[in-house]
Amino acid sequence: MEKYIYEEITKRNLIKFGHFLLNKIYCARDWIDTREIVETKIILNKLVDIIVKDINSNTHSDYAIVGIDLVGSLLASRVAFALQRPLSYIVSEKEELNNARPEIELSIEKTKNIILITDVIVTYDTILQAIEKYNLKTRIDSIYTIFYRPNYKVSANNGLVSKTYSINNMFSIELFEKKECMYKKNKCIAQNRKINEGEKDNENN
Ligand SMILES: [Zn+2]
Repeated sequence: MEKYIYEEITKRNLIKFGHFLLNKIYCARDWIDTREIVETKIILNKLVDIIVKDINSNTHSDYAIVGIDLVGSLLASRVAFALQRPLSYIVSEKEELNNARPEIELSIEKTKNIILITDVIVTYDTILQAIEKYNLKTRIDSIYTIFYRPNYKVSANNGLVSKTYSINNMFSIELFEKKECMYKKNKCIAQNRKINEGEKDNENN
């Protein structure tokens, strides 16, 4: 499956080049169009199948499925349906800024553990923020992601790595510290489609 995803990404040109703001510290040189992946039925079906099988192959106490952001939620809804489990969503801060939908809030019984589903993990920032915001620390059963994108600059030393199951680790990510970015002040920030930490876009430069 890892190779299949790799080939589909390559074949469909789903790697977008440019600079993409990742968080307050880093920008990334490229981005995978994960929305296109989950909106391609044949790929989505395979992803759902592999995640459902993996969840079923482990023992879990009573759990619910929670999708993170748009792509994670699309995938999560299919997984939850297949498993006949309760479903909820988390919209991260950076996505909220983009497509503000504050009416969506996590609603899961306090007694249930949580299986998180997301599209890409690089720094765990989004996941850690969600865990903090909803106080989920003791309730995370496991985390499923389509892509885990390693980079030597970020060490994921947060207790979540051993709970993380990823389908594809083949796309390492190239990170630049924002303060050293060669596009600083113009292109890099202009390319930012997800977060804008109060900085002005300079698209004209
Ligand atoms: Zn940059």
